Amino acid sequence: MLRRIKRKKAKEKVCWCGSGKKFILCHGNVGHQEKVKISDIIKDFNQSFTKDKCYAPDIYHDECSSNIIGAHTVSKSTNLKHIAKDNHVYCFSPNLGEIVKNEGKIEVEKKSIKKTSTFYGFCSHHDTKLFLPLDQGVQLDPEHLFLNHYRIISRELYLKERIAQFQSTKFKSYDKSKTPHEQLHHQITTDLIFTGTDTARKDLQQIKIAMDKMLVSNDYSQLRYYALVIDTPPEIMSAGVWHATSDFENTQLIDLTDLETSYNSISASTLFYLENKGVILFSWIEGVFDCPECYKFIQSLNNLSREDQIKAVIYWLFASNENIYFSPEWWDSLSSDQRQQLIDIFQGTVKSVPNYLKYKTLNNNIVDWTIEKVETNIDL
Ligand SMILES: [Zn+2]
Ligand SMILES: [Zn+2]
Repeated sequence: MLRRIKRKKAKEKVCWCGSGKKFILCHGNVGHQEKVKISDIIKDFNQSFTKDKCYAPDIYHDECSSNIIGAHTVSKSTNLKHIAKDNHVYCFSPNLGEIVKNEGKIEVEKKSIKKTSTFYGFCSHHDTKLFLPLDQGVQLDPEHLFLNHYRIISRELYLKERIAQFQSTKFKSYDKSKTPHEQLHHQITTDLIFTGTDTARKDLQQIKIAMDKMLVSNDYSQLRYYALVIDTPPEIMSAGVWHATSDFENTQLIDLTDLETSYNSISASTLFYLENKGVILFSWIEGVFDCPECYKFIQSLNNLSREDQIKAVIYWLFASNENIYFSPEWWDSLSSDQRQQLIDIFQGTVKSVPNYLKYKTLNNNIVDWTIEKVETNIDL
């Protein structure tokens, strides 16, 4: 009798995993459930990228149109069109399905520029209205540079929010059919990964709030930028956000495992520039978080010779950007060794922290760029 009561009590207990459900309705049963198929995980992941919110500043929300559209982070009309062949560009196959299928092998795929570099983060009204100045090509004025950074930060926040949601709900439930020990391991690992994503999400959110205020007041004085103007439009177009973890001498600048510290995000993009030139642009917002590492990173780039700056930037682009597209003509003109080297750099970062000093190993003739000048508002 006593035993029966005890067992009953155990069943009534709240589950150890933190779901808040009774054990019997949660992990009490997980081990007997059918294993989650990889195809379902991919489907869940892809479905997390919902169209439910416009990332324009809150006070503009009464103007929002009803449809959230696929907003481009690398501008279609200027940047992508410029490198496209028959309206297609190349990229590394980014979706989880391909990675699972190819066991982690990165492949180059052809993509229509209509579907390239989009995220569902702005309503059609704001996507057009806010970014109109960028559609004619970027200029190195504060408004253009700010808008470019704003769109990249918005995309990153969109991704972090959706991925955090996926990790804390769907991903947590993929321990079906596993042993109790494996269930525990899965839950702990998922919580750790989620904590990392969520910390980055919160930091980005603060930057976005500051940028919303700057946008509304047309005050871009907190924007810092460093632009290398090159003599030709870049064959590689990209737009991404990252933390300056280390510089081009491979000096560690920050420790991302320190979740107590908030870190600034730098955006980097390559852009079509006036009169058939190109820009490699780094920018960030000053005043939200201290970011000595941002200055140190740029300083280490600025210290290099012009030739080395180009190699460093190319290495950096492939090592740190998943949102990267390139001209089919250019890619097809590279030797197979050069192509493999770029794929290896891109793939290497999946496995380990990039070492930017390795730019020195990069083949010399990957691009034919000459830096004409540096434009910056940073004291170097
Ligand atoms: Zn549970
Ligand atoms: Zn809107």
